[in-house]
Amino acid sequence: MKKNNMYFKLYSDNVIIKGAKNYLIYDLTLSRIKEIPELLFFVIKECEIMTYEQVKIKNKDIKKGIDTYINHLINDNWGTFVSDVAAFPEINFEYLRPSKISHAIIELNFNETHKKTHQKAIFELMNFNCNHIQFIISDKKKSEYFDFINKIIYKSNFTSVIIKSQFDGNEYDEQKIRCYLQNNKRIKKIFFFDADVEKTIIISEPFTSKLILTKQPMNTCSVKQPVYILNRLFFYESLHKNNCLNGKICIDKNGNVKNCLYIDEIFGNIKKNSIKSIIDNTKFCNLWDLSKDKIEICKDCEFRYMCFDCRFLLSDKANTISKPLFCNYNPYE
Ligand code: SF4
Repeated sequence: MKKNNMYFKLYSDNVIIKGAKNYLIYDLTLSRIKEIPELLFFVIKECEIMTYEQVKIKNKDIKKGIDTYINHLINDNWGTFVSDVAAFPEINFEYLRPSKISHAIIELNFNETHKKTHQKAIFELMNFNCNHIQFIISDKKKSEYFDFINKIIYKSNFTSVIIKSQFDGNEYDEQKIRCYLQNNKRIKKIFFFDADVEKTIIISEPFTSKLILTKQPMNTCSVKQPVYILNRLFFYESLHKNNCLNGKICIDKNGNVKNCLYIDEIFGNIKKNSIKSIIDNTKFCNLWDLSKDKIEICKDCEFRYMCFDCRFLLSDKANTISKPLFCNYNPYE
């Protein structure tokens, strides 16, 4: 069949996102973006319901330009000609997650919160089918915490564990940490902050894990500049939910339950409350639904479904829906 009688269609995982002034195509499989002119956006939309010939007749003044752009999109693998558009339905962008809580960050401090209290909270997280857990150790008695983590994750259903610890030159034993990583397949990364070197050691046996020493301070949010993530999962989540806080729970060194360790608001304490009661009976989950479409300025930005959101460092501290502080991009210019 000749292309004039066919329809041009972007591949289903290539999605056009409209900003206040600019248009981007996100390639959710190859993790790339392409800026397109506004006119091409309308042409692509017309191509979904009209044959290529009909589109060019309708836009006869620019038909050469249309040919150039569409050929370019085809050569660069963004789309193709099809004879039956109905045979290539849109992807369902619904976001569903099997567990209510997917991420947990726990600041371990046995001086403030007893081991058994932590244990109880971690077992509750397992019952929630929480996949990812991050432990933060700022106290001095590191080996006690490492032993505790080792025991508690051994029979857990966590699929990935990250440990962040303060570096202590007197206690640091690289060989021991390497063995620890090799013996704990669920631990993906161990960070040591405030170290005197920048160093990453990759351990590839039996599975890949990393030991990272960094000069960066520990007690700060690591998101200090725009972070862009382009893949299906992040896109689907960003369409509907806050892509930093959704499904996340943080427990600070005093046992306080928060959305983010750095945000002041507290919803309960693991010494007195179960995680379930906090989630069910407080406004804990409200921020989970704050997608980029609800955030001032971001809602008009073409990067909004690939841009990591931060609700701690805001451009206007008094306004909970102001855009992240770190971003200088203006989608209206
Ligand atoms: S933070 Fe900046 S780049 Fe990201 S969506 Fe908002 S305006 Fe766009």
